[in-house]
Amino acid sequence: MSEVVSLLQDLICADTVNPPGNETRAAEILREYLEDSGVRCDLYARWAERANLVARIPGRGTGPSLMLLSHTDTVLADPAEWTVDPWSGEVRDGHVWGRGTLDMKGQVAASAVALATLAREGFRPTGDLVFAATADEEFGEGEVAGLPWLCEEYPEAVRCDFAINEGAGDRVEIAGKVLYLCAAAEKMSSPFVVRVRGRSGHASMPSIAENALVKAAPLIERLGAFSSTPRLGPETEAFVRAVTGAVPPAAEALEAARAVDPVAAEMLEPLLTMTVAPTMIEASKKRNVIPALAEVIVDCRLLPGQTQEEAETEVRAWLGDDGYELEWREGQGGTRSPLETPLWDAVASFVAEEEPGAVAAPICTAGFTDSHWLRDAFGTVAYGFFPLRAMSAELASRLIHSADERIPVSDLELGVRFLRHVARAMGEIRG
Ligand SMILES: [Zn+2]
Repeated sequence: MSEVVSLLQDLICADTVNPPGNETRAAEILREYLEDSGVRCDLYARWAERANLVARIPGRGTGPSLMLLSHTDTVLADPAEWTVDPWSGEVRDGHVWGRGTLDMKGQVAASAVALATLAREGFRPTGDLVFAATADEEFGEGEVAGLPWLCEEYPEAVRCDFAINEGAGDRVEIAGKVLYLCAAAEKMSSPFVVRVRGRSGHASMPSIAENALVKAAPLIERLGAFSSTPRLGPETEAFVRAVTGAVPPAAEALEAARAVDPVAAEMLEPLLTMTVAPTMIEASKKRNVIPALAEVIVDCRLLPGQTQEEAETEVRAWLGDDGYELEWREGQGGTRSPLETPLWDAVASFVAEEEPGAVAAPICTAGFTDSHWLRDAFGTVAYGFFPLRAMSAELASRLIHSADERIPVSDLELGVRFLRHVARAMGEIRG
């Protein structure tokens, strides 16, 4: 059995469902594996059972450093929904099955194998090749044990010029073209609260009060229909060019993509504008009391680079000025990396070599990953890319965080080839 499969099986058997995480189990497996290949490892733990592992092949010169970044925690799994035991790592039908195979112990294992095999071959890059398998990515609320904590407490352990992380790598066919998507930017998760005030009173006499919940209703409806002016960023522009062969004005981009392939339009739509979706509401705590206050929590995703001030102007223009207060909650993410970089060239050359005719296309993701912390702390150029060729993007997105998560063995091996390719390409650059 291949090295990457058996390492992944060991990682799957180590239950690291977060919470509570217990990522030290995974860190110890990785340490033992890497030290056998002569790679030095360090464990960093805010809490003993939640260790992060950082390993490196030191650079021989002053070239740029490259990090292979991944997280070892997973979301939970309900065995009753699964065909196999989610912590078995069983190999069946050419796939490794188990919680975390796609998100993202498969990439953890492939990164470790890339590092170990390069180390055994005596690989000496010009700059450090770093492998970080971090804790606590999936939950990430309150006091965290993973990458943001490392950036704060041990910046020298995780500082890097370039990084490859999760986020994309899917192979999509659009209008006869094969694209491998590479995540270069993330939208900012930036929730806000819409607060509506009224006057409380006994619910048996509605007319004496002013019901804040009822006053909130038209605002909720209006928020549900929110639309904003589309704009193109560098990633969406490059994506549209890859798909349609041209760059139309932002307002026409969606139609141009749809004309080529509805799938392209579906992918593009949330990336052209900020989005707004009311998701939670709080009003009276008692059935017989008319609420004086209603709070609507609104999920809002800003385009990378878009500020809350700009967004607030748009939301207020949409809702009108009166009858509510708007308050932002803390935003998260919203960073991007440039596309004209040697790391991009390394991704693109791998795709061209692996599948002639296919191209790498940048994408901005609607979700949040740990890439944000590196970009924010060190200005790292970070991309989300782990190629999946045998498994369709559609199936992968259905299995992530769901039952019967699995990864084709051939895609694990593809991932190892990719990570070795990137490490070699970046390891030749002179500082
Ligand atoms: Zn993940």
